[in-house]
Amino acid sequence: MSSNQPYVTLHDGRRAPQLGLGTWKLTGDDVAPAIQAAVEAGYRAIDTAYIYENEAQVGQGIAKCGVPRDGLFVTTKLWNNRHRLDSAKAALRESLDKLQLDYVDLYLIHWPIPKENHYLEAWEALIQLRDEGLAKSIGVCNFQIDHLQRLLDDTGVLPVVNQIELHPYFQQAELRAYHADHDIQTEAWSPLGQGQQLQDPVILELAHQLQASPAQIILRWHIQMGHMVIPKSSHPDRIRENFNLWNLFLDEAAMARIASLDRPDSRIGPDPDRFHLMKG
Ligand code: NDP
Repeated sequence: MSSNQPYVTLHDGRRAPQLGLGTWKLTGDDVAPAIQAAVEAGYRAIDTAYIYENEAQVGQGIAKCGVPRDGLFVTTKLWNNRHRLDSAKAALRESLDKLQLDYVDLYLIHWPIPKENHYLEAWEALIQLRDEGLAKSIGVCNFQIDHLQRLLDDTGVLPVVNQIELHPYFQQAELRAYHADHDIQTEAWSPLGQGQQLQDPVILELAHQLQASPAQIILRWHIQMGHMVIPKSSHPDRIRENFNLWNLFLDEAAMARIASLDRPDSRIGPDPDRFHLMKG
């Protein structure tokens, strides 16, 4: 099984595949076949989280997929009710047990939960877990600029990645500019707008012009923007389609047309400043 795709270099010097498989809502018997289809197509990165309740199945899929551990890039995430230091450290060990792995490539704080105000303690835990070798790289999701700045001011350590809601209707220019200034890699979640943007007239027109699918147009836009990107599909044909981007190129005019789709208030998911779901 070969893989030919772009990698990004994170600010800790480690390399990560730019395109990976998202697994939110992939459950039970659907997980291992999706991972198998993905690695056969060439994917080497898999994104899961404690809260997706599929870490055990992801682990089984990884064990069976035929790619050696050091050829894969596995991400999981710390849930909101585990931000206290000891709890956070135990949480990664629990995730590793379920995944049947000795380490993850990337461990992320899933949400900042500013109302609880324990994300600095969670970050200290992640720094220790990285130093212990249980997470090769550490980062966050859904952090706003002031949350990132607080990590920097208090610990001097910035996340290598901020995984954020990012799609053509919600492009987060200000946050991406902060990332660029601080060498934080932007990673896009819900990169296809959870599938809703595949019917957008501009995307459909570009797909027709370039003889690509709407999903390929949007994913290629992410790749050319430099984002890490983790589309989810439970269908092997779509998993393959979403990886088949390397002969597609969006010229400046096409990139500008997608840039023009940005709309204020187009979040699909929760506002990170207000979200405080603690149930796990
Ligand atoms: P996506 O933007 O990846 O869209 C997934 C949806 O699009 C599914 O309904 C899928 O349907 C459909 N789809 C995928 N590919 C195609 C295709 N080629 N043609 C037509 N339809 C397609 O949404 P997600 O919300 O799943 O985001 C991706 C990943 O990001 C998640 O799986 C998760 O790993 C991560 N994430 C992280 C969050 C965070 O807070 N850090 C929050 C949300 C997501 P089907 O499966 O039927 O093919």
